[in-house]
Amino acid sequence: MNNRAGIRESMNFSEVIIIGAGPAGISAAAECLRHELMPLIIDKGEAGGLVRIAHLIQNFSPLSPMSGRELAFRFQEMLKRISAPLLRAEVIMIEQREQTFLINLREGPQLEARAVILATGQKPYVPDNLDEFREFFLLPGEFEPREIATGKRMAIYGGGDVALDLALSLYESGAAEVEIFVRGWPKACAYLQRKINEKKIAVTKGYELIELGKEDKVVRLLFKTEQGSEEELSFEALVLALGWQPCAPEMKPITLDELFNMGIKESGDTRVPGLFLAGDIKNGQNRFIALAVADGLRAGLAACKYLKRDKNRLRSSI
Ligand SMILES: Cc1cc2nc3c(=O)[nH]c(=O)nc-3n(C[C@H](O)[C@H](O)[C@H](O)COP(=O)(O)OP(=O)(O)OC[C@H]3O[C@@H](n4cnc5c(N)ncnc54)[C@H](O)[C@@H]3O)c2cc1C
Repeated sequence: MNNRAGIRESMNFSEVIIIGAGPAGISAAAECLRHELMPLIIDKGEAGGLVRIAHLIQNFSPLSPMSGRELAFRFQEMLKRISAPLLRAEVIMIEQREQTFLINLREGPQLEARAVILATGQKPYVPDNLDEFREFFLLPGEFEPREIATGKRMAIYGGGDVALDLALSLYESGAAEVEIFVRGWPKACAYLQRKINEKKIAVTKGYELIELGKEDKVVRLLFKTEQGSEEELSFEALVLALGWQPCAPEMKPITLDELFNMGIKESGDTRVPGLFLAGDIKNGQNRFIALAVADGLRAGLAACKYLKRDKNRLRSSI
């Protein structure tokens, strides 16, 4: 369907579709509504995004300190207040057409929009050598600490903020034991390192995970130590928290990598007219809720301005 009248008649058409209902996506929706543009938001999971698994948010003033769960709940409440429709579905592909974007869902009808805000965040990074052991470990965001930790002996591999934050959540969710293994030294912020010390959560440094196995309900971890020896340890569950990378559905004809290579503006504008990026997906190591919110507002505004410009252009060309 590519003539404008046909598009407008379609039940599956929205002026703007926001993919991702984390802090960036919800903020983008709020900004669109200020310009009286009703977006459709799509998320494959719970609204609120990754915030919900954070142990304690200290740097999102004026609401801090607050648990990640509670902050996610506040974002969900915000979404209800602004009444933007939320579709629970996974987007598997975005196809750019001449005037619109086609949004393909894993299940459900194909959708179409004139502008798309991609606020899909980041996904955990898994190094190639551990990818083949995928069934033996959990990744951040895949589980609720409260639901899996009770009474379990758990290991975390990684030494960044997310690894230590998750260790605290698992500890407070009743894990029988939590031990952190780091290849080099923990890089997490001083506050998290102090908390880990206070709770007497063990941090073993200089251990590189080289192989994994499973026997019954026990995961076997084979480490290479700094001294070059090997050590095998067993836990009931392992969480891999080694870093993050941008997360997006497949994109055609221009892929996400190509989009990054062409350059993304601070405002989230891309080189593809009508496509905007907001939040963690564009912020590299700067994964902050406050930044995601600001990005969402900027992308919402940019999308509204784009749609107005596009409408005027079409009107004058008739
Ligand atoms: C353990 C942990 C602790 C943290 N602590 C802090 C902290 O203390 N302070 C701080 O500022 N930041 C913290 N962060 C970072 C913060 O959570 C992120 O910066 C923020 O959530 C980014 O918001 P976002 O909207 O860009 O992405 P996200 O919150 O990741 O939301 C992206 C959304 O997109 C959805 N999605 C992804 N792909 C698809 C698809 N194909 N189809 C449909 N939906 C899709 C996801 O389900 C998700 O809901 C923490 C993160 C973690 C993991």
